[in-house]
Amino acid sequence: MMMYSPVVIVGAGPAGLMLGCELALAGVTATILERRPAPRTDSPGAAVNAGAVEALELRGLMDRLRHLTFPLPMIHFSLLFLEMEKVDERAKGTLLLQQTQLERVLEERATELGVKILRDHEVTRIDQDDDGVTALVRTPGGIERIECGYLVGADGADGAVRRLAGIPLTGAEIAFYGITGDLEISMEELGPLPLGAAYYPAGGQWMCAPIGPDVMRVTTAEFDIEPADPTADVTVEEFRMAVRRLTGAELTAGKPRWLSRTDCRIAQAEAYRRGRVLLAGDAACVIYPVNGQALANALHDALNLGWKLAAQVQGWAPPGLLDSYHDERHAVGRRACDNVRAQVTLSRGHEEVGAVRDLLGQLMRFDEVNRYLAGMLSGVDTAYEPSGAGPAERHPLTGTRPSPDLWVASDDGDSPAAGAAESLRQGRGVVLYLDGDPDRPGPAAAWSSRVDQVRVSRVPGVDADVVLLRPDGHVAWACRGDGAGLNEALSTWFGAPSTEKSGAS
Ligand SMILES: Cc1cc2nc3c(=O)[nH]c(=O)nc-3n(C[C@H](O)[C@H](O)[C@H](O)COP(=O)(O)OP(=O)(O)OC[C@H]3O[C@@H](n4cnc5c(N)ncnc54)[C@H](O)[C@@H]3O)c2cc1C
Repeated sequence: MMMYSPVVIVGAGPAGLMLGCELALAGVTATILERRPAPRTDSPGAAVNAGAVEALELRGLMDRLRHLTFPLPMIHFSLLFLEMEKVDERAKGTLLLQQTQLERVLEERATELGVKILRDHEVTRIDQDDDGVTALVRTPGGIERIECGYLVGADGADGAVRRLAGIPLTGAEIAFYGITGDLEISMEELGPLPLGAAYYPAGGQWMCAPIGPDVMRVTTAEFDIEPADPTADVTVEEFRMAVRRLTGAELTAGKPRWLSRTDCRIAQAEAYRRGRVLLAGDAACVIYPVNGQALANALHDALNLGWKLAAQVQGWAPPGLLDSYHDERHAVGRRACDNVRAQVTLSRGHEEVGAVRDLLGQLMRFDEVNRYLAGMLSGVDTAYEPSGAGPAERHPLTGTRPSPDLWVASDDGDSPAAGAAESLRQGRGVVLYLDGDPDRPGPAAAWSSRVDQVRVSRVPGVDADVVLLRPDGHVAWACRGDGAGLNEALSTWFGAPSTEKSGAS
């Protein structure tokens, strides 16, 4: 039996589900193939940083998730804690959120948008040529052939797509002994073990955070040693020994809901695109999970890729648009790999790294250092290198992602840019005219199939008269003055003028 889909996404994790939603918003109905027969019940991810929250906020998904979250008002660099009173409000938004809940909400949204999710479907082989990609898929009914225009590997760190597409992964696997799990244990039963996170001078980290009534997410991370058999299931006794080795204290209570080994990999695909095959999420960039950066990467990969791939499928993508996915997201992934590698290095034994930790701790008292690290670790300072107009013409906002709070209507509906928030929820581009002249005709009307026009008198913190926002919330172009150059910017990012809406394909 043979099936066709314009886009096949391999993997129904956060990256794949979010990408399915993004493509659907842009008018392309994708098919997601997932090898698991049912949604996962263990929840590796437990925290999302402010950047991930902003991605969800942009599409209105936090409305469905907020009641499932707890604030986690701390940011650290290798467990050296930032001074939160010096951190910008925007970067403080780290939340405890179970990855299973996130996936449930993303799947619910994807289903509403008509995304086809086929479980118990494992991709085992792909072949591509100039016209499309063919995937061989193991299903309960036998091997099926599925053809598509483009295939996206959102199949996780060990996913097959990257390997099958011949894209090398470069990076490091660090000698490491890590265990993570959820324990049914009360605060009192923790005894001397600290709630929160701690660095141990022998070279390791302990983390313990409540994720529900009398349920704690606990993690032991020891560097430069390895388990005798990394493939064996973790036993309670082994976990207790790890806790004792790391902290010197005994874990005497607590029934595990699940326990799992973790590894310490920091690696990145050399290319996020090869022909008609693309990579997103952990399949593109694997980082040891600290500061919620991994899930943020997965969600923003999807936001960046969705509208560009839809443009390609619908035939209106301007030259270079799809390739800008690699250029922009590979750079962000590399930055995450670099900061995680630095954090891992600083987690080694005190004898080796203590002096550097002490020095960094002193530097972190400076406001600028605090602010810089908070922006990077929370992901709110992500700015894409601008393409198109030369440096002299670039407005400082170009490439940045202003806080969606600027666009999201406040509860009493008086946000000046509420119209922009609604357009972004629908995954559309927006031209914001901030010149206060309600009657001046906007040239963006010629692109009305892809871009909405919003007139506002002023948005606090936005020092520009005209701003072109991409569907992923990043500023494509901005200017002071009468908007000369807007048409060129619209063509660069949104192709030829078009007033006809693209239907779902
Ligand atoms: C112990 C642990 C704790 C973590 N904690 C955090 C945290 O607190 N915060 C954070 O931001 N990140 C955390 N992470 C990282 C986070 O879980 C990942 O970044 C996230 O899951 C990546 O999402 P993804 O969609 O790219 O990949 P995945 O979630 O791995 O999803 C990939 C999907 O593809 C499917 N698949 C694989 N191969 C195939 C195939 N051949 N055919 C079909 N389907 C296939 C898989 O079954 C899976 O469902 C943690 C990770 C671990 C291991």
